[in-house]
Formats: sequence, structure tokens, C-alpha cells
Amino acid sequence: METDRFVEVVLAGVDGRFHYHLPSALTTSTLVPGLPLWVPFGRLQRVAYFVREVAAPSVGTTKPIIALLGDRSPIPPALFEALLWLSDYYTAPLGDVLETALPQGVKPVAQRIFTLTDAGRVAIDPAHPEAIRLLAQGTIPASQRVKIAIPPLWIKQGWVTLHWEIPPPPSPPTDQSVRLAVFDTPPVLRSPQQKRIVQMLESAGGVLPIDAFDTALRPPLRRLAQREIVQIEKTARVFAPPSGFAPKGTLTLTPAQQKVADDITEALGRFTPFLLHGVTGSGKTEVYLAGIEAALARGQSAILLVPEIGLTVALVARLHERFGRTLALLHSRRSPGERFAAWQRLQEGVARLAVGARSALFAPLANVGIIIVDEEHDPSYKQEEGVRYHARDMALVRGRVEGAVVVLGSATPSIESFYNAETGKYRTLRLPSRIAARPMPTVRIVDLRLSLVPETPYLSQALTEAISDRLARGEQTLLLVNRRGFSPCLLCQACGHVPKCIQCSVSLTYHRVDRRLRCHHCGYEMVPLLSCAQCRGTQVVPLGIGTQQVEEQIRTRFSTARIARMDRDTTQKKDAHHDLLAAMAAGEIDILIGTQMIAKGHDFSSVTLVGVVCADLAFHFPDFRAGERAFQLLAQAAGRAGRGDRPGEVILQTFQPEHPSIQAAATHDDIGFYQREIVARKEGQMPPFCRLILLRLSHPNEEQLQSAARHLAQHLRHIPFEVMTLLGPAPAPISKLRGRYIYHLLLKVAGRRSAIESALDEWMAPDGLRWSIDIDPQRFS
Ligand code: ADP
Ligand code: ZN
Repeated sequence: METDRFVEVVLAGVDGRFHYHLPSALTTSTLVPGLPLWVPFGRLQRVAYFVREVAAPSVGTTKPIIALLGDRSPIPPALFEALLWLSDYYTAPLGDVLETALPQGVKPVAQRIFTLTDAGRVAIDPAHPEAIRLLAQGTIPASQRVKIAIPPLWIKQGWVTLHWEIPPPPSPPTDQSVRLAVFDTPPVLRSPQQKRIVQMLESAGGVLPIDAFDTALRPPLRRLAQREIVQIEKTARVFAPPSGFAPKGTLTLTPAQQKVADDITEALGRFTPFLLHGVTGSGKTEVYLAGIEAALARGQSAILLVPEIGLTVALVARLHERFGRTLALLHSRRSPGERFAAWQRLQEGVARLAVGARSALFAPLANVGIIIVDEEHDPSYKQEEGVRYHARDMALVRGRVEGAVVVLGSATPSIESFYNAETGKYRTLRLPSRIAARPMPTVRIVDLRLSLVPETPYLSQALTEAISDRLARGEQTLLLVNRRGFSPCLLCQACGHVPKCIQCSVSLTYHRVDRRLRCHHCGYEMVPLLSCAQCRGTQVVPLGIGTQQVEEQIRTRFSTARIARMDRDTTQKKDAHHDLLAAMAAGEIDILIGTQMIAKGHDFSSVTLVGVVCADLAFHFPDFRAGERAFQLLAQAAGRAGRGDRPGEVILQTFQPEHPSIQAAATHDDIGFYQREIVARKEGQMPPFCRLILLRLSHPNEEQLQSAARHLAQHLRHIPFEVMTLLGPAPAPISKLRGRYIYHLLLKVAGRRSAIESALDEWMAPDGLRWSIDIDPQRFS
């Protein structure tokens, strides 16, 4: 007799691993990690993912696998290994991790469906509203259950059955094209339009996309199709590159670029992490292209990660120009069908270059030769919901399993990456000057304390004059208004002072409701003083101005200029990013006002002025990385100026001109900034000198939450050695969300953290409490 084969599986939304056996009908199947299976689970049937075979199950009697969903794993082996690592490091259930890695359409989604049985037809009052709906529709997806409220009794009595079904993947996007049929004798054409259609098709070689015919020609086209003179066919959509960006052709690399490209190319074939530190406008993109090209030439594949794909249209156009159909774009704003199609092309090896935001790291590519993380310092690489992984850090993990080169590129590397390069973990590549010996922009600091105009406090004379100059010369201006969002702080307009926490040195957040200043790391709080603690001045106001307000002021001041705004409100529509960026590239906008979005990577050659409306908004975040983020933002914004033939100028407006982030940005002193910051990190025992773990606790009742949080803090303080410091519990900056209060506990940890995990497992959380764990947190809201 054959011995049973036992398999270990995981499920999304369930912690732990489960054992099943393979019924004899399935034993010939090849099982590969990541393969979706259909299994009985509790009283239901669910999708599970195969992990490995086991010699002996952990339970006495195992249930059988019902079916294999497909014949190959959607996850290549090396990627699976990286995901195992991810699951372990971020303490996220493997099933959730696998589902995070799979796009919609690839992960089987089970749908529950209700059906009325014959017994039900007899037994249920036909006038019952739900019965009427069931009778009318035949079946109802269970997702509607809350709305239709099927009485549980109906299911118990067998009047209604509940079963599960896996919907088909979304259909790939198609286009329609028109094809001219082949004739022995020319067909009779009855109208000038019909003749025109046939002529158009003949001169195009017999086929044209349907869009080539304008609406007036559609009715005659349909008649031609009825007479079978033409055929209208559906074809798989071929993606067009973004329009409005001129091709660049082949650029000869400069000696500096060539040197960097050679270093990268020579390292292909083994895991080699690089930090590419190149100033803004140094031509990092062309180096990426060279590295990708070399990997493809070796028969390998490549992944390019960008912070936000919507903001990268010019880069995507360049990639299309260079790699054509080898490129697959993974774009969250595309329809599920389009994303599925891109993913499939990668899996089948038709496309070998995956480009996208953080989730492109999970591209189903085999034999990855190079992974590039552009703007590696960008906080958006951290996923902030569900499985909270950091795509830049995971790029190194995937690179290690794949034996690939990993290039982290930035003009303003994160402190962590700088440190890793300094300590030899990464090899550093430098591009210290701009292409074509273009100068770095000159930076002027405008002291808002001295130039305060009461009605328009954020529009200094220096800035308006500089904008006028640009308008007169037909050059473009970018105005950065970084959004403050959730956490206002109080600013003294006379001296620029902002109250800080006495023990964490982060800015205190002002809460209007109860007029309190609070530290969101440690919970310290105070009543705001009426006069400034530094200068005794009385002009203490909440700091901040929005893009819309700035736009209004600029429109009033420059009524004939072509002004556009780019922020979350104006970029809701699918192609909004593209349209704004293409209009900028085409010179159709004089002044673009926007949030962080306008500072990211763009290469507009006619921008000669960048204005930062209020730099203080960047460095008063309640976060120990505020100074770093501010420097990065200011340096990146400044880096948009003077990228063409004409030199650029930057105006930084601030209430605190002496702030180190401002000073470093004004002098393009990235290394100096790092050297100062790393000392502060060491003194404050902050990353990279410790690891942070943020616990987020929530509960509908604030008192119960507070006491639970205190209790947990007590419990964690007893773990020897591992916890260096515990900050909090403190209310989160957004202290209440959807009826639940939120508290944070921040742990500073040295080395391993397994004891913390077991302590959390032991802890008896009170009813109604939810908690989540965030490893290496990037955001404290
Ligand atoms: P970075 O990403 O480093 O800020 P980019 O890659 O956007 O810089 O390059 C800046 C500009 O220089 C772009 O317009 C790019 O096309 C151009 N460029 C880059 N390399 C070369 C080269 N070797 N020859 C000519 N122009 C180049
Ligand atoms: Zn504090």
C-alpha cells in the first residue's frame, strides 16, 4: 500500500500552518511552493497555498485536499524564498504575504453564493422579501448578505445552500481592429464612405484599429461588416507608451556614467548591493538603462522600482523607447484585466523587465539579474497597511536569493543606506556632478520672520519678483507646498520657534479640541503657552498653508500666467498625473503649484525657478526622521531647477533659516548632513543603531485602551536585554479612527526580537482590543 503524502499549507487571514493529506487521485501531481489549493477548513472550503510536504502530520487525522487550483505556482521559487523571509521578519502570516504578492486575478478569490433549494421553495413564505430576491436571481453572492439578511435558520433547514466558487480571472483588455476580407472580384461599394473605408484599409495593408475611423464612418463600417467585406476582430491590447515625451535616442554615456555602468555590469551574476549616490541631474536613469540592458543581454530579467508609478511617466516613456515590449508596467491605477495581462507577460517570459511601485518587487520573474530601487530614500516604499514591508529592504532580500545585483539610487540617500555604505555593507557608486557640467542651482534663503506680509504671509517679495522674472523670460516655475496633513504644530511667527518634547526632541502636536500639545512618541503633554517660550512674542499660530490657498494668491498676483495645481485633489482621475506632467514638458504651464508630488524625479528642462513656500512644514513632523525627510525633500525640490541649458535658482522660505536641514539643502551638502545626523542618531540611540518596533493598539473605549496599553508596557518591560527602551504608551497622532481610539507603544530593540514576539503571544489582550505590529516603522501616524 502506498503511504499517504502529507502537505503543509497556509491560508490568508489565518495565522499558522495546517496539515492535510493528498487523496490518491491527486498524488501524481507535482506540488510546488505557492501552488493554490482548495481545502476544507472548519465548516467551509477555502483557498490555501502549498508550502511543503511533511513526513508526519501534526494532527492525528488529516483532511484531504479537495483540488489543486492550477498546475503551476504563480510564485517562482526564488521569490517564494524571499517571501518566507519577509513573513518571518515582519511577523506577518505567510498566507497574507502570498496574497499581498499576487495581483487580483491571479490569486483565487472564493465567492460565497446562496441558492434556494427545492425544499426551500416549498417551505419559505414566498412573500418574504429575501425569498423574492432569491427566486428572481437564482443565486446571490454572500457579499450581499448583510444587505439581504438571509435568516440562519434557512441554511440550517437546508432551504438555502451556501457554496463557494472561484471566479475566473479578469479578462485581458482588448482592442477592436478592422480587417479587409480577401476577394476574387472587387466588392460593390455603395457609398463614398464605404469606398473611403476600403481605401484606408488597402493603403494600411489591410488592418486598422477601429479608432482610426471617426464616428461618421462607424455606420458604413457596420454595413460593410454585415456584408462580410470587412471583419471586426478583437485583439489583445498593445500598450502604448505615455505620449507627450520626446524620444531621446541613444545617449553616449559620459565617462563618469560609463564607469558606474561598468561597475554594475561586471557585478552581474552574483549578489552585489550598490548605493548609487548621484546628485540631481547627474544622469542616473541612463545608468539604470545600461544595467538593465546588460542583464537582459545575459538572458536574465530585471526589476525597476519607482516610488509612485503615476509620477514617473517620463521615465516610463524612456523605458518604452529603449526596451519596447520587453517592458511590463505594473500599475495600480490600471484595470484588474490590464494588471493581470502585464503580470502574465512577465510570468511567461514575454516581458523580462518589470517596472512599478513597491509591489513590482513581487514580479513573477525567474532568473532576476538586477533590481534597481530608484529614489531609494522615498518613504512610499514602506507599505503602510496589511503586510507592512519595506520594498527597498526587501529588494535586498530578493536580490540575495536571486544572486542579483541590487542598485539603490538616490541624490539624497536615506541615513540607513548611507550608513550601510559607510560600513561596507553596500558598495558606493558616485555621480558627483550634473550632466554637461551644468551647475547645481543657486539657493537663496528667505527669512519669513523679516518679510511678513500680514495678508499673504507666505508670499515674500523675493519670491514674487523671481516668479515675475521667469514669466518675462518664458521660463517655468515650480512652487512646493508640502502638505502638513494630520499634525499641526504651533509656530512663533516672530522667532520661528516650535515647541518640542523635552525628552524626544520631536515637535509637539497641537490638538485644537482640548487645547493641548502632545508628544506622539512618549505621551508627554502640556498646555500651550500664550507667549513664545523663546522670544516671549505673542504671534503664536498653528503652522501651515495649503496648495489651494497658495494657488489663489498666485492667481491674484499673476493673473495672466498659466497656472496649474498638482495635489491629491487634482490628480484623482486616471490620467491626471500624465496630463499635468505632459503639459509641463510641453511648456503649456508657467507655474506649477503642488505638494511633494512635484519634487519627485521630474526632468523639465525649462524649470529655472523652484520656490519652497514654507520649508518649516517639512521639518516639524512628529517623527525622529523629520530632519532627514526635510533635507531630502528640499534637496529633491531644489534639484528640479536648472536641468536644461539655463541655470536654476531655488528660493527656500522659512521661519528658521538656521535649521540644519535648510543649511544643508542650501549648500548641497548631503555628506555633511549625513555626518551630523548619524552622530545625533547614535547619541539618541535611534536607527540604524537600534531597531524600532511600533505596536498600534486600538479599542472603542479610551480608558480601557489606556489601561491595556499600560499593562502591555509593564509586561514588555520585564523582557531582559532585548528591549532597550520603551516609549509610551501615547495616543497616536491620529488618535481616533472609525470609532476606535489608537495608542502607540514604541520599542527600541537590539538584536533579535523573538522574546518580544513570544511575550506578545502570551499577553492576554482584553476584549475588543486590536493590535498590530510594525517592524522598522516609517510613519508614526
Ligand atoms: P537624475 O535622475 O540623476 O536626476 P536624469 O537621469 O533625469 O538625472 O538625467 C538628467 C538629464 O540629463 C536628462 O534630461 C537626461 O536625458 C540627460 N542625460 C543623462 N545622461 C546623458 C548623456 N550621457 N548625454 C546627454 N544627456 C544625458
Ligand atoms: Zn516625547
